[in-house]
Amino acid sequence: MSDISRPVTNRNAMDDSETSPLDVAIIGGGLAGIAAALECRDSKPDARIAIFESRKRLGGRAGSFVDPKTGSWVDNCQHVGLGCCDALVKFVDRLGAAEAFRRSKSLKFRTPDGRTSAISALPILPAPLHLGLAFARLHFLSLRDKALLAFGLMKLAATPPARLRGRSVAEWLKSNRQTARTIARFWEPVLVSALNDSLDRLDVAGARQVFVESFFLRRDGFHLLVPAMPLGELFDETAGRALMKSHIESAENTACRSIEVCGDRTFRLHFRDGSVRIARNVILAVPWTAAAELLRSTGHEELEIVISGAEALKPSPITGIHLVLDRRVCDEQEVALLDTTAQWVFDHTEADRRQAGSVVPPGGQSLHVVVSASHALARQSRERILEIVIGDLKLTYPAMASANVISSWVVTEHAATFSPAPGTDAIRPGTITPVPGLFLAGDWTSTGWPATMEGAIRSGVSAARAFTKCK
Ligand SMILES: Cc1cc2nc3c(=O)[nH]c(=O)nc-3n(C[C@H](O)[C@H](O)[C@H](O)COP(=O)(O)OP(=O)(O)OC[C@H]3O[C@@H](n4cnc5c(N)ncnc54)[C@H](O)[C@@H]3O)c2cc1C
Repeated sequence: MSDISRPVTNRNAMDDSETSPLDVAIIGGGLAGIAAALECRDSKPDARIAIFESRKRLGGRAGSFVDPKTGSWVDNCQHVGLGCCDALVKFVDRLGAAEAFRRSKSLKFRTPDGRTSAISALPILPAPLHLGLAFARLHFLSLRDKALLAFGLMKLAATPPARLRGRSVAEWLKSNRQTARTIARFWEPVLVSALNDSLDRLDVAGARQVFVESFFLRRDGFHLLVPAMPLGELFDETAGRALMKSHIESAENTACRSIEVCGDRTFRLHFRDGSVRIARNVILAVPWTAAAELLRSTGHEELEIVISGAEALKPSPITGIHLVLDRRVCDEQEVALLDTTAQWVFDHTEADRRQAGSVVPPGGQSLHVVVSASHALARQSRERILEIVIGDLKLTYPAMASANVISSWVVTEHAATFSPAPGTDAIRPGTITPVPGLFLAGDWTSTGWPATMEGAIRSGVSAARAFTKCK
């Protein structure tokens, strides 16, 4: 892990600059908050901007923790973006870390018999024809399955979202002649990992958005963007340096307790350490689980609809399993596993080896296994989760039978994302609130995207633009 050379602002040392009002205070230092801060700076070079984050690191849910034994970063969970995530690409570029993601141009699926199929584009053909041949060659679906899958995908893309909203994916697939095999081996693996809930708890309009953006609109939409460095290095250290370079005050370990709305476009922010800051505008970029309490603290009844929306969102978990093995077992850099509890496997060897405290031995391999919507798995003990996942790897990779696990982490984020259940879109709030000067950001707001890095960044940019416009 590289040293954190960036000084963390000591907010308690109240110098002059800390007593005069901020033009905008951003509460929450996840991707939404960081994106909002940088966008505010880019459109208002002279504005006084500060970002307040309750944890000791920036990056929020897209973060890492430090292994106390080795000092190395361990990502909470593998994160990936898609080729259609334009805001993510632009954001990482703005952080000065354009190389932070590697681009994988094929989506690989592996069955327990060890066979792998890849979805990759044919040259020249426009979307969605560019993927036609790859779909026709998928080894894990029959000819009939593929014909029905093509029908289902075309019909989904051709149906206006308004006619889909409020229905579950499970129900829609059933009424659109999808076979059990296409559901188990295509719809489920793609949608559960993209939207993070089971098919009966996903709104079909969200599913349409995933397929349209990644398969139908452009040739590179389905590419995978995989971080080539630990999330903490990217979204805490690198992002922190970008904020500092942009003269944005960044105060970590600084939890906002309440927001007082004073007259004349003034907010008094009360922090848990007893300190107070004054701001002309506030961008609230905390997750939905924290937003309701802070919005309620304003005492503004007009916010009740936003508050009840936030309170109505349900969490959905993701479990990440990190395994360091004494030998290589997996040839792919990333692959979706079919017919197993383990859903995706990522080879993290190179990124882990670059860290000073790396425990990956020569000839060994570091794997990150991801299980989205891990409702059932999350209830199991750590030992049982390892047993299930290692069993899945043994089933899929013969070399795993003789591999030894050198170290392992099991991390379940119980509120990894909100569940995009049927009807959820209607309760996701917009950026602008009824309180002048108070804006909302975060992956749970109405971004048109699921709860993702892309959605979070878009929300931050929108909130910053709303702030810029209304001044
Ligand atoms: C396990 C897991 C796997 C995921 N995988 C993917 C993936 O592969 N691809 C993808 O695109 N997305 C993925 N996501 C989702 C993605 O991480 C989130 O959508 C995104 O990071 C949300 O950013 P945000 O800024 O909206 O919220 P957050 O990241 O939650 O940031 C909000 C910040 O506000 C802070 N905060 C809360 N209360 C206060 C307070 N009172 N005062 C000050 N600060 C406060 C929090 O500490 C937090 O840092 C995953 C998420 C998880 C958890």
